[in-house]
Amino acid sequence: MSKGKINVSVENIFPLIKKFLYSDQEIFLRELISNATDATTKLKHLSNIGEAKIDIENPIIEVKVDKKNKKLHIIDQGVGMTQDEIKKYINEVAFSGAEEFLEKYKDSAKDSGIIGHFGLGFYSAFMVSDKVEIITKSYKDESAVHWSCDGSPEFTLNKHDKKERGTEIILSISKDSKDYLEESKIRDLLRKYNRFMPVPIKFGTKEIVKDTGSDDDKKEEKEIVDDIINITEPAWTKQPKDLDEQNYKDFYKELYPMNFEDPLFNIHLNVDYPFNLTGILYFPKISNDINLQKDKIQLYQNQVFVTDNVEGIVPEFLTLLRGVIDSPDIPLNVSRSYLQVDSAVKKITNYITRKVADKLNSIFKKERDKFQEKWNDIKVIIEYGMLSEEKFYEKAKSFALYPSTDNEYFTFDELINEIKENQTDKEDKTIILYATDLKEQDSYIKLAKGKGYKVLLLDSPIISHLIQKLESNEKNISFSRVDSDTLENLIKKDEKSISKLDDKQKDKLKGYLEEIIPKEKFTLQLEALDSDTIPFMITQPEFMRRMKDMQANGGGGMFGNMPEIYNVVVNTNSNLISNILSIKTKNKRERLIKQSMDLAKLSQNLLKGEDLTDFIKRSFDLIK
Ligand code: ADP
Ligand code: MG
Repeated sequence: MSKGKINVSVENIFPLIKKFLYSDQEIFLRELISNATDATTKLKHLSNIGEAKIDIENPIIEVKVDKKNKKLHIIDQGVGMTQDEIKKYINEVAFSGAEEFLEKYKDSAKDSGIIGHFGLGFYSAFMVSDKVEIITKSYKDESAVHWSCDGSPEFTLNKHDKKERGTEIILSISKDSKDYLEESKIRDLLRKYNRFMPVPIKFGTKEIVKDTGSDDDKKEEKEIVDDIINITEPAWTKQPKDLDEQNYKDFYKELYPMNFEDPLFNIHLNVDYPFNLTGILYFPKISNDINLQKDKIQLYQNQVFVTDNVEGIVPEFLTLLRGVIDSPDIPLNVSRSYLQVDSAVKKITNYITRKVADKLNSIFKKERDKFQEKWNDIKVIIEYGMLSEEKFYEKAKSFALYPSTDNEYFTFDELINEIKENQTDKEDKTIILYATDLKEQDSYIKLAKGKGYKVLLLDSPIISHLIQKLESNEKNISFSRVDSDTLENLIKKDEKSISKLDDKQKDKLKGYLEEIIPKEKFTLQLEALDSDTIPFMITQPEFMRRMKDMQANGGGGMFGNMPEIYNVVVNTNSNLISNILSIKTKNKRERLIKQSMDLAKLSQNLLKGEDLTDFIKRSFDLIK
């Protein structure tokens, strides 16, 4: 057996780094600006702790496009590098000066917001450049140096006469990447990645108009100022106590300038133990196209934009929210765009879920009216959360609302108290009646309300799934849609009327009805109800309709081909039935049954096509 060490030679690795390390070419600018920001942060820190005895005013970073010479400049006024530091930090690939700095100033610099990590960011510059130069002057009393490298592992390093402290990176943009010599392209990139970074970034100048002079003698003066593209202290980096409602709304506009609607609520995230995370999440007003509105949350690391794919960090049901999450602790791979899912991420996800639930709960408790008012806009997210996250379900139980058709809002517990005591099914479970559509189910709602039952209005698309879950989680309840067979059972139980018809008359009626009403589609039921209760009513078994509903929005194919079976409940005590029985002419009788049946179908939205046309014609004949 022999042992050895694999020999990795720089010549081979270097082209690989250029080609494969980064998922996206354009991030080179983000990396260079991150380094410039780190250099500035370091200088501020050293000055704060008295290690650099210098005046720092307001250091900025400048980006310049020199289209003529095909060069891009990134200039900072930060710590700079000495010749030795260049050798150490730049010439050694994957040696991170940022990590070293954090290690050295462990206690004082822990929360300084240093971005660098892997010691690889700088080399991304070679993805778009034929040559990269560094001209840098350290804050220490040493001469400036000029480093230059054309992408091969060979470099040159010379003294330079730069006098100002800081670093200038000069990229000679390669032919393939000439897009990066367009001002608009660079501006877009700066806006995308660097819009909320902590050091001001200048990109060119702009003209502003200033009001000068007194009130009576107004003058306008034009002035050329630096065009600073970033907001250095975005709202999420501040303390919630220093922000008011308007600040949150303004920041929302900042994030989504194309969005004209105000957010409904905001949730300020702010933890530093056991992980560091800040951010602001917003509940937007959701319109119908849910998919278009997903994935608008932006992920930042120390104010550097990373991605707007927060899959895995934010629980699925909250991807409809908007806003920003910033955490240096979210483990991303080198290219920073892909998440390495691990237990730390799981903790972050749980924290976000809990925080959202707590915030909703506190709004519900403190401002119930406001919460109720917005319920319709937020219910889909909450109901989806209750279905998909057990922990959220437990918390949401106290603030999830169940509105009635009369615009009252109940929590689950309040609802149970509202329901009639004897409103139970065969197994003694409390029956909760609900409608999904005020218009389509109007006649059933009226009927139920007329009999003194409370009817809920539950109209979100996933409601049948939630109902199923509530029934299995909460003991002794059962939901039934208002037009299901349950209502007829309730009424029967309540009324206990004595039948006006004897058995012979019942058989006769049955015969008449069966001639007209097709057996394969309708199960005929003769019931002795109050004489003023509806004479013909079509209902559908609750379980059957619900299975179909659930299947329609993705609940398995088991019930796909279930036949449509309905009940026809005929009130034998109604005057209409007495009429039908007393009519002598067969034609007239049949017409009356058909008409009644069609009316019942109409209120279940079952009368269509030719049947509807016939019904209209017959109705006109009847009133002629
Ligand atoms: P990282 O930022 O992850 O440490 P980089 O490859 O981006 O790795 O940079 C390597 C090191 O080079 C940095 O840690 C820093 O010490 C040094 N460096 C890069 N850019 C600058 C700059 N503009 N000013 C001062 N030092 C810099
Ligand atoms: Mg870096």
